[in-house]
Amino acid sequence: MEEQRRDMVSRQLIGRGIRCPRVLQAIGRVPREEFLDPHARCSAYADRALPIACEQTISQPYMVALMTEALALGGCETVLEIGAGCGYQTAVLLEMGVEVISLERHRALARRAQDNLLRLGYNRRWVIHVADGTQGWPDAAPYDCILLAAAAETCPAPLWRQLKDGGILVAPFGARSQQTLCAIRKVDGARQIDEICACRFVPLVAGLPFPDAV
Ligand code: SAH
Repeated sequence: MEEQRRDMVSRQLIGRGIRCPRVLQAIGRVPREEFLDPHARCSAYADRALPIACEQTISQPYMVALMTEALALGGCETVLEIGAGCGYQTAVLLEMGVEVISLERHRALARRAQDNLLRLGYNRRWVIHVADGTQGWPDAAPYDCILLAAAAETCPAPLWRQLKDGGILVAPFGARSQQTLCAIRKVDGARQIDEICACRFVPLVAGLPFPDAV
């Protein structure tokens, strides 16, 4: 698996133009297989998103790298993450040295992400709340960075309000079938938009789901 991970970093990330050494090192340190069900582990370093519970996905490693790079993290930021899923991206952010407040609408996934992170030894600088990410998490706002890992037509107003001036929000915006990954910097309250690439994420769904038993 370690060899496959090194190969993923060199082919899928460096090969496609991810340059930031800290991002490459961070992704190189996180065992993606540990976030998957045992039967899916052999595909852990495939160049694509993979299914996890609750009909959700673990993002493609390249997307995780692009989003992490686009946040331009120095290491002492507080990042609000929307859509913890199984916790893979959270682990990559923690490897970047930042503090993470993550929101997940599926209780079962939030629990799984928590278990995964603790099992891998991440025991500080993060919290995962079961919450509707379209509302953000006002209690700890404003944030240096916001990473939205689910697709929205436009930026939910509470998220924009909860971003610090000078901060960066990275998110896939667009239609349900395809979106554009955008990095938006808040400059004196205005939006400075950088369109990164076409992408396809699971939808950002408002509201909490019914209790699930996975
Ligand atoms: N970050 C993950 C991938 C997340 S997939 C990774 O590490 O690979 C997107 C996640 O967003 C799903 O788990 C989905 O349940 C969650 N999600 C969708 N809408 C949401 C909302 N309104 N609030 C919180 N989480 C949401």
